[in-house]
Formats: sequence, structure tokens, C-alpha cells
Amino acid sequence: MAATTDGGIVIAGMRCGGCGLQSAPPQPVCPHCGGDREIGPVSLPPRGTLYSFTIVHVAPAGLEDEAPYVLGIVELEGGARITARVRTADPGALAIAAPLQLSEIRAGVCFFDPA
Ligand SMILES: [Zn+2]
Repeated sequence: MAATTDGGIVIAGMRCGGCGLQSAPPQPVCPHCGGDREIGPVSLPPRGTLYSFTIVHVAPAGLEDEAPYVLGIVELEGGARITARVRTADPGALAIAAPLQLSEIRAGVCFFDPA
């Protein structure tokens, strides 16, 4: 995961030429078809919808000050699903399929805001 030179943020992912799966982070073997050929890097779109989420009340060491926070699975445009943080003032109001926009990548973790 890296920032572009124009200031925009992109999610570094992979696309499998064998089955067409898009996924992140990049991996040497396709997690869907097991193929290891025709795998190439792609920039995944910074927009998607909330596929699933949980509210973390008891955080692991180092993140205690951030709890409660939302950990979600975001389905990006194009179908790739990634685990990410979702920032919202009211986690109880979050709904499946809510539109999200990538706002930051910090320490390899994507942070999305409601779009
Ligand atoms: Zn594949």
C-alpha cells in the first residue's frame, strides 16, 4: 500500500490473469484459483461499500486508546474485499452496503470514511 506522487491514495493490490480475481495485499499466488502466473500489481479503487463490520471495544495492545473503533470488510469497486478501519462518529448508525471513501493509509492499514 502506497501513496501516489500526485497526493492521491491508492491501494496496492493484485489481479490474477487466470481467474480475474482482484485482491489486496499483493500475493505471489492467487488466493482463489491457486495460479501463480499472470499475476500483476494493480491500483485498487479508493471507493467501496461496507460488506461486514464489527465494533472493537477491547482493543489489542497498542490500540487501547482508539477503542471503540470499527473494523470492517470493505468491498471495493471491482469486487476486491479488504479489511480496513471505518471512521464514524456513530458506529451504531453504520449499515451494511454504506458507501465509503478511502481517506488514509497508516502503517499499512486503510482508513475509510462514509462517502
Ligand atoms: Zn486466480
